[in-house]
Amino acid sequence: MSRIAYVSGRFVPQREAVVPIEDRGYQFADGVYEVAAVHRGRLIDLRPHLDRLARSLRELDIVAPVTERVLIHILERIVRLNRIAEGSVYLQITRGVAPRDHAFPTRARPQLVVTAKRSRRPDPAVWETGIRVITIPEQRWARRDVKSVSLLPNVLGKQRAREAGAYEAWQVDPDGTVTEGTSSNAWIVNRDGELVTPPPSPRILNGVTRLVLLGLARRAGLTVVERHFSLAEALEAREALLSSTTSMVLPVTQIDDRVIANGRPGEIATTLRDLLAAHFDAPRA
Ligand code: PMP
Repeated sequence: MSRIAYVSGRFVPQREAVVPIEDRGYQFADGVYEVAAVHRGRLIDLRPHLDRLARSLRELDIVAPVTERVLIHILERIVRLNRIAEGSVYLQITRGVAPRDHAFPTRARPQLVVTAKRSRRPDPAVWETGIRVITIPEQRWARRDVKSVSLLPNVLGKQRAREAGAYEAWQVDPDGTVTEGTSSNAWIVNRDGELVTPPPSPRILNGVTRLVLLGLARRAGLTVVERHFSLAEALEAREALLSSTTSMVLPVTQIDDRVIANGRPGEIATTLRDLLAAHFDAPRA
């Protein structure tokens, strides 16, 4: 079945979908995006995704091209048209099409593109060994809280991870602080058994999975601390993990060449995995 995309107000076969070359997303990466999971044909945690989208748009002074109600309708329709049971939807809003000039155009209309794809959840086999992350210097801009389509440092970082045979790259600030992965948030369980992840700030993207896991962990009675941790602390941690919409939660058992704890996926990572899976399965209104 050929995939269907939503572009500039129309549902079209994806292979025929095009955007004008003067779209500012193409020329300046002047736009924002969201990726939401689809499970059993339903969009998961749409509310926090829409809230984050609204915030990203506000921060960049881009006016939403459609109302939230219309956007939800388009997302649900894309899921149905592409018959997605398990996968994700991608949406991107750019400032629009205008003659190339850095300053905001006065007349451009923001452009919305929505696509969907099937994908399976991470292979349960990763829970036997865990995954490895490498570390790289943090080289992104100072507003990582905005979910901008400007992802070049993330792309280069992920490629380095791929070439190193690792799953992800954790970005480390000059002061030794781990910020986050190139497309995921970073967590550790420290020596005191506290689950630690950086607080929301311009240094990280406030992941929806991160937010959901924080709520689930607190409700399960785990001790959760939102604060920065250093790479040195991560190397000495009881557990390390990462989270994102597409990876859900994964146990990190190696950072660069250092094995974390006993090198096996930890108890808290496993608990969080199960809580998140139950959250995905929970009936929704
Ligand atoms: N940080 C970055 C840089 C990301 O790109 C992502 C994934 N979009 C995340 C964190 C995780 O966010 P989420 O849980 O909303 O997928």
